[in-house]
Amino acid sequence: MVWVFPGLSGRFNSMQNILEINNLIKLISKLPGLGPKSAKRIILKLINNRQELMKPLAQTLSEAYKNVARCKNCGSLKSNNANCDNCQNNSKKYNKICVVENIADQWTIESSSIFKGYFHILGGTLSNSNLERKEDLLLDSLIERVKKNSIDEVILATSATVEGQTTAFYIQDSLKNINIKVTKLAQGLPVGSEIDSLDDGTLISAFKNRKSLNSDSD
Ligand SMILES: [Zn+2]
Repeated sequence: MVWVFPGLSGRFNSMQNILEINNLIKLISKLPGLGPKSAKRIILKLINNRQELMKPLAQTLSEAYKNVARCKNCGSLKSNNANCDNCQNNSKKYNKICVVENIADQWTIESSSIFKGYFHILGGTLSNSNLERKEDLLLDSLIERVKKNSIDEVILATSATVEGQTTAFYIQDSLKNINIKVTKLAQGLPVGSEIDSLDDGTLISAFKNRKSLNSDSD
């Protein structure tokens, strides 16, 4: 059933005095690419489609909140009802791990087809306010994965920002006691660039020309 909220269509101002709606506008406006105006359009669409959209969305959000969490092994997202696709269901054997800041970076690298291997998702950088604890980078687990999967190279694919490079240095330092090749994407990356904003050509070149960080091979 489509129930049209009387008097609301096109009159966004009349939504302002409803507490629940105001709270929704505040939250939805925080989503990427959305401001208050698009948030109001979305809310209007939801209100006008209570059964078909609003109810299933509320239920699905609640289930995702309860069941989807970060994998403690690789940092990717996983459902509590299943093994992690990124590290536990992976039947293929690789000898490289690529360390990225977030899942969007993994998707960008996967779609360029330049890298075949495992991914380790940091979930941010050391300087991000939401990542104050270094344990959140899952470095102990990275070292475990390197040993368990007989990995021979860790590729640091963090952004060419101060935070990304600081994080790469910290990871490099954490890996110095294990006998493994550590490389970093080529310096040709534009300064300040984030991995998920790079075009395929730049990304492929950065992978091909990646630089060894091991002191004995510099
Ligand atoms: Zn995992």
